[in-house]
Amino acid sequence: MQPACAHTRTKVLARRDGVDYVECLDCRQIFEAEDLEPTKTEEEEE
Ligand SMILES: [Zn+2]
Repeated sequence: MQPACAHTRTKVLARRDGVDYVECLDCRQIFEAEDLEPTKTEEEEE
């Protein structure tokens, strides 16, 4: 088992209410893209 997955390879499963749901191709975990990426200054709304 790997100690920790960096989730470097992901694919977008769905987008809802401006939130991208991504799946990690390595560990197959599903999470929100917002959780994955640190703080991003640019936000796209509308
Ligand atoms: Zn992962």
